Amino acid sequence: MADIKLTNLNKAYGAVHILKDVNLDITSGEFIVFVGPSGCGKSTLLRTICGLENITSGVLEIDNAVVNDVPPSKRGIAMVFQSYALYPHMSVYENIGFALENQGLPRAEIRQKVEKVADMLQLTPYLTRLPKALSGGQRQRVAIGRAIVRGAKVFLFDEPLSNLDAALRVQTRMEIAKLKRGMPNTTMIYVTHDQVEAMTLADRIVVLQAGRVEQVGTPMELYESPANTFVAGFIGSPKMNLITGAPAAAHKAHTLGVRPEHFEVSKTAGAISGTVEYTEVLGSDSFLYVTTPHGLITVREEGRTGFVPGDAIHMSPVAQMTHRFGEDGKRLP
Ligand code: ADP
Ligand code: MG
Repeated sequence: MADIKLTNLNKAYGAVHILKDVNLDITSGEFIVFVGPSGCGKSTLLRTICGLENITSGVLEIDNAVVNDVPPSKRGIAMVFQSYALYPHMSVYENIGFALENQGLPRAEIRQKVEKVADMLQLTPYLTRLPKALSGGQRQRVAIGRAIVRGAKVFLFDEPLSNLDAALRVQTRMEIAKLKRGMPNTTMIYVTHDQVEAMTLADRIVVLQAGRVEQVGTPMELYESPANTFVAGFIGSPKMNLITGAPAAAHKAHTLGVRPEHFEVSKTAGAISGTVEYTEVLGSDSFLYVTTPHGLITVREEGRTGFVPGDAIHMSPVAQMTHRFGEDGKRLP
């Protein structure tokens, strides 16, 4: 059990206001992902939850108990950092078992727990190695293993995969998803700026901008019904087109949002006309970058494209797939 509730949480460093009235209700066992631009306060929010930073105002509750003034070690939270912070002179076995040894657990019990966690994280072949003889992904798993043996009820991850190369990221991402399935009662909060990690791992995503929560929802809720133009432009890759002027007015909106995959294209006629400026052919799909009187528009076509740079192109948003936003940037009903 580890429900986490944040009520009007604020964090300031002196006069610099970082987190602004953050309200969040996290249910035990959820996998929550924080996303947002660099500097928006993701790490600060994690650090206030685990107690490494104090809260300027507001209330933080874990399982209905206010923990604002509870020291980090008493919160039952484990933080897995971007840099792994392993003890360099200790083996994998010793790194994982260290906290248990400190607690004075019997040797046999430590062995049993460390071996179980090593098996779960596929670290058994490396138990006698020092951290310097491990890959980045393996070190990350040792850091996770240390948190698991300590029996933490909440795991916080701050961009844990950002130091890994692309192939290893995919593999480690799958391992984290598997790890979560194996620990259904453990609450996990995961910070990333990677779209794919957010969409694939999260039960719910929290989108932050400049210290404020812009929207909270399942990945598909955010993709299908972004609450405002910020979330619309932030979730999805390539970004949603946010078009103003006549095409938006035709839909009775200030801004019309159309994802690159939601245009029908034609060489003869369509709602918006332009010139193909540049194409990217990726095999599985093609991206067209089109200059129009309403700004640059990105179009995604499946497979090959029949267009080359310089071609005239006409684009019609697919009915039911458009998003309408008002002058204040908020989604219109
Ligand atoms: P993110 O993790 O989303 O990139 P951070 O939470 O690290 O963002 O930082 C949010 C803002 O808080 C940044 O503008 C950063 O410069 C500022 N900040 C972070 N730590 C401190 C600190 N100890 N003192 C003053 N400002 C800080
Ligand atoms: Mg950060």
